[in-house]
Amino acid sequence: MNDLKPIVPEASGIGTPMIIAGPCSAETREQVMATAEELSRNGVRIFRAGIWKPRTKPGGFEGVGAEGLEWLKEVKEKTGMLLTIEVATRQHVELALEAGIDILWIGARTSANPFAMQEIADAIKDSGKDVAVMVKNPVNPDLELWIGALQRIYNAGVRRLGAIHRGFSAYGKHLYRNLPQWHIPIELRRRFPEMPLICDPSHIGGKRELVAPLSQQALDMGFDGLIIESHCEPDCAWSDKDQQVTPEVLNFILNTLVHRDSTVTTESLSILRQQIDELDNELLEVLNKRMRVSREIGQYKKEHRMPVLQIVRHDEIMQSRVKLATDMGMDAEFMRTVLSAIHEESVRQQIEIFNDRTR
Ligand code: PEP
Ligand code: MN
Repeated sequence: MNDLKPIVPEASGIGTPMIIAGPCSAETREQVMATAEELSRNGVRIFRAGIWKPRTKPGGFEGVGAEGLEWLKEVKEKTGMLLTIEVATRQHVELALEAGIDILWIGARTSANPFAMQEIADAIKDSGKDVAVMVKNPVNPDLELWIGALQRIYNAGVRRLGAIHRGFSAYGKHLYRNLPQWHIPIELRRRFPEMPLICDPSHIGGKRELVAPLSQQALDMGFDGLIIESHCEPDCAWSDKDQQVTPEVLNFILNTLVHRDSTVTTESLSILRQQIDELDNELLEVLNKRMRVSREIGQYKKEHRMPVLQIVRHDEIMQSRVKLATDMGMDAEFMRTVLSAIHEESVRQQIEIFNDRTR
């Protein structure tokens, strides 16, 4: 997957990062139009809305279905925004393409299912249309499954392809609705540097107040876009009400995000990383020297029939070093952990000397 094209052409006026916003679900024509019009006035160029909603349990709101496509067409006519919706079956793909949806996205429950992914890929290929596709990470933290889902779409001829990080399910209660596990999308980027990475802070956080900090974190990590749930009346939303923000709040969030200049950052970052590499080398040299001295002490103790563990000496070392470290501004607990690990290894090496009959 190394001949990808931008999800949306530069000419469409979409800046960096690419911003996608809209309600979790299309509920009524009025809700869709009111939300879209305000987002559009604020400069959002890509509108999202769920038409078919995958629900954990039966009985929840399962989306308005094809009827909502008519409202979305109206959004496009009135605002000129590009449209993106979630598809999970061949029929969804066909109806979406017929309605002129610009970008399809595949949800986290669907991307975890290779049969569904293949069905969607085949439907796209059969349509012969050049559509953009974004694939959310599967609900479980399985990078290979995510890559496999992306590859199925790529193999269907799609080149305007992107990956959405929406966090991963975990059992029990957590700060996040879906744990971010940032190292997974970062590994995806390492393996497929051309693949646009979009962050979905709404589904990671599950709470309005986490949308801004998660969006900032994503930008700091070089993500190319954000997909954020926005509803004209979040408290009345039929799905995911706790995580949706009004277009006004979204506008505020987007205007307060700090856009890092990647070229400047890369340059100064590489200088700082070089310093870290050098310091780590020095640290290893010093540690190695310390272990050598410690082994010599072991030899001395053996020859003088002294015990390896000298608790008083160990206590003195701990106290004086922790004091030094805190005076320097380091954390006492951190220093204790480091010193304990070093001490444990010194004792292990001295015992080795004691047990060595050749010495
Ligand atoms: C959504 O974007 O509304 C959605 C259902 O997301 P996910 O597939 O990430 O749960
Ligand atoms: Mn949602």
